[in-house]
Amino acid sequence: MLFVQKYGGTSVGSTERIRAVADRIAATVRAGHAVVVVVSAMGHSTDALVDLAAELVDSPDLREMDQLLATGEQVSAALVAMRLLAMGVQAKSLTGWQAGITTEPVHGNARVSQIDTRTLQSLIERGIVAIVTGFQGIAGGEVTTLGRGGSDTSAVALAAALGADVCEIYTDVDGVYTTDPRVVPNAKKLDDISYDEMLELANLGAQVLHPRAVENAKHFAVQLVVRSSFTEGEGTNVVAMTENRMEGRRVVTGIAFERHVARLAVVGVPLEEHALAAIFSSLAENGVNVDVIVQSVVDASAVDVSFTVNESDLGRAVEVVSSLQPTLRFHKIEREAPLAKVSIVGAGMISNPGVAAQMFVTLRDAEVPIHMVSTSEIKVSCVIPAHLVEKAVQALHQTFVEADTVTPLTNAER
Ligand code: ADP
Ligand code: ASP
Ligand code: MG
Repeated sequence: MLFVQKYGGTSVGSTERIRAVADRIAATVRAGHAVVVVVSAMGHSTDALVDLAAELVDSPDLREMDQLLATGEQVSAALVAMRLLAMGVQAKSLTGWQAGITTEPVHGNARVSQIDTRTLQSLIERGIVAIVTGFQGIAGGEVTTLGRGGSDTSAVALAAALGADVCEIYTDVDGVYTTDPRVVPNAKKLDDISYDEMLELANLGAQVLHPRAVENAKHFAVQLVVRSSFTEGEGTNVVAMTENRMEGRRVVTGIAFERHVARLAVVGVPLEEHALAAIFSSLAENGVNVDVIVQSVVDASAVDVSFTVNESDLGRAVEVVSSLQPTLRFHKIEREAPLAKVSIVGAGMISNPGVAAQMFVTLRDAEVPIHMVSTSEIKVSCVIPAHLVEKAVQALHQTFVEADTVTPLTNAER
C-alpha cells in the first residue's frame, strides 16, 4: 500500500517527538508499505516567525513573508529525514518545489495547481521515504505558501496526485470530535464523518483539518483518516455520505466556532443606491473577505446593511466603506467587536425542521444574545459576543450531542 502520512506541529514539536514520528514511519516501512511523509513546522515555530516579522514591520511584504514562513517546515523535514537515515531507513527531505508542487502565483494563501510526481515516484520506486515540507509550493520560481494550517492540504494533494491508498493526518487529538475537546472536555470522538459535514466544520472554524484539504479529499475521493501521533487508535474516517450512518443519523454532527469576528453596519442607505452591489464589490476589490450579510429595509426609503469580517480586516473594511459615503449617502457606520460565531453542523438537519429553533432556545436559556444568523442546508451559525463563546458551545453540545438526538433511519431510508 502507499500511505501519505502528515504530521502536524505538535507531533514534531521536539526532538523527542521527532524520534516517535520516525519510529512510526519506520514501522510502516517495515510492514512493507511505501510512505510519503508531509510535515508541519515544529510546535509553534510558524507563529514565532510571524511574530519576528511583526516586530520589524507593520505589514510585511507578502513575498518575503512566504520566504520566511516556508523555512519552518524545512527544519522539521530535514530532522525527520536524518533521524530515519540514522535508523537505517532510506529517506530524503524535499521542499515543496523539489517535490514538484506548483501553486497559483499568489502569496500567503495559494492553491495547489499542479503536482509533477516524477521525483516522488522515483523515490517510491527506489524504496526511499520522501519527507516533504507541508504548506508550500512554487509559482513561477517563487516560493508560495498555502495559508495557515495548509500542510493538511499538501498531504491530501500529494495523496491525490500519487493515487495513495490512504492519507493519514497525524495530530495531537485522536480524531475529529463533536466539538473542540479543549472547550468541551466531554466532546465525543466520531468514528466517521462525511466530507460535506467535515468541510462545513473546517470552514466554520474547527481547526483540526484545513478546509481545502477536505475539499480536495472530497473532489479526488482521497481516503482520509485523522488520528493521533501520540497514541494508537482508529481515529476518524472522513468518508462519502453514503458510506456512513448505517444505523442511525445524528441531526447535529458537530459544533464549530470562530473567534475574532467583527460586525460592521452601514446604516440608512437610500434604497435607490443599490447598497449591496456597491459595498461588496468594493470590499472584494480590496481583498476583504465578508462572511454573514444581513440587509434590512428600514422604511420605504432606506436600508441598513450589516456584515461580518475577520477582526483583523475591520480597519480596512471601515476605510473601504467610508470611502463610499459620497456616493452611497448613508447615515453612519457602526462597528462591533469582539464577536464570535458558533455553528451547528449536521447532514441530518435537512430532514429535521426545528433544529434552528432548538439552537435559538438553547442560546436564549444560556443567556447568550444572538446578533446575526446565517443558515445553509446543513448548518446554522449565530454571531454572538466573543466572551460567551465557551458558554454557548458548551450549551449547544449539551442540547445536540449529550442529550440523545440520534434519530433512527426510517425503513424507506434504510
Ligand atoms: P496540527 O498541528 O496537528 O495540524 P492543529 O492544532 O492544527 O494540529 O489541529 C488540532 C487541534 O484542533 C486540536 O488540538 C483541537 O484543539 C482543535 N479542534 C478544533 N475543533 C476540533 C474538533 N471538532 N475535533 C478535534 N479537534 C478539534
Ligand atoms: N506551519 C504552518 C502553520 O502553522 C502550516 C501547518 O502547520 O499546517 O500554519
Ligand atoms: Mg493543523
